[in-house]
Amino acid sequence: MTEPQDSQRTEEDTQQRGLSQPLEVRSLHGDSAAPAVKGVPEAERKPREAIFSLDDVMVSYSKKPAVRGVSFDIGKNQITALIGPSGCGKSTVIRCFNRMNDLIPGATVDGKILYHGQDLYAPQVDAVEVRKRIGMVFQKPNPFPKSIYDNIAFGPRVLGMKGDMDEIVERALTHAALWDEVKDRLKTNAFGMSGGQQQRLCIARCLAVEPDVILMDEPCSALDPISTGKIEDLMLDLKDEYSIVIVTHNMQQAARVSDKTAFFTVELSENEERTGRVVEFDDTEKIFTNPSDPRTEAYVTGKVG
Ligand code: ADP
Repeated sequence: MTEPQDSQRTEEDTQQRGLSQPLEVRSLHGDSAAPAVKGVPEAERKPREAIFSLDDVMVSYSKKPAVRGVSFDIGKNQITALIGPSGCGKSTVIRCFNRMNDLIPGATVDGKILYHGQDLYAPQVDAVEVRKRIGMVFQKPNPFPKSIYDNIAFGPRVLGMKGDMDEIVERALTHAALWDEVKDRLKTNAFGMSGGQQQRLCIARCLAVEPDVILMDEPCSALDPISTGKIEDLMLDLKDEYSIVIVTHNMQQAARVSDKTAFFTVELSENEERTGRVVEFDDTEKIFTNPSDPRTEAYVTGKVG
C-alpha cells in the first residue's frame, strides 16, 4: 500500500480526528519559486517547510516569566535540539509544542505558535487532538503496566484506528527498531524489558498513533551509552518521516543527531528574577563550530556550565 501524501493525510486526519479547522500544510516542493543557484541541488535551494513557527513566545508560571522572547522555526524532517543550562526553560518550551503547559495550573503561554501555519493556541483548537498528532517521549521510560503488545495497541484502540491491530503493533515496533528483540514475547509485561528497550517501546507507542512530530525531553538521560546510541540511531532513521524536537543536556548528543540547535540561557533581571532566553538558533554545525554569540561559544566549549 502506498503511503498517503501529506496533503491527503491532513485532510483525512481532520475528518477522522475532528480538528475544528483543517491544517494548512505547505508543500516542501510548493510553488514558491526560489532563485536558481548554480551548483546547489534544488532541494537545498528551497526554504525548508516549517512545522512550527514560534514568534516572541513567553511562558509564565503564576504570572512569573520562566522563558521569554522565543522565536524560531521547527523544520520538517529535521531534528531540532534545545540545549542550555538547567532552568533556562527548555522543558517549558518543548511542552508548548503539544500544549502540555495547559495541564500545569498557573502556566500561561503568550506570543504566537503556528503549527502548519495554524495558530496552535486559537480557542477553537482542541488540545487533546493536538496531542494525538504531536507525540512525546519523557526522560524516564514510562510504559504502562501491560504487555508489550497492549502498550502499543493502547493508543490506536482509544483512537478507534482502523486496520489489523497485529500489523499496527508490528509496524510500530519495527519502526522503533524493537521488533526483532521482542517479537517472541509480545504478551509479556513491558516492565521486564531493559531501560533502553522500554524507551524504544515508548517511542513505538508514539509512532503507533501516526503523529507527525515527536517531542523528546531528555530521552536518554536515564540510559547507558549503548542504549543511548540505539536511540540516537533511531532518531536519525525516524527523521525521514517525522520531525523531532529534543531537549538534551548532552551537548555531544545534540551535535551528533540534530540539524538545528537552539541555545538557551538564563538572564537575571534587576530584581534578581531568572528568565530563560534563546541566545542563538542556527544550524547545529554552526552552533558548535562557529557560533555568533560569545555566550554560546563559552557554553559549547565547556567554559561555563
Ligand atoms: P530546563 O528544562 O531548561 O531545566 P524548565 O523549563 O524545567 O528548565 O524550567 C524553567 C523555569 O521554570 C525554572 O525556573 C523552573 O523552576 C520553572 N518551572 C518549570 N516548571 C514549573 C512548574 N510546573 N511550576 C512552576 N515553575 C516551573
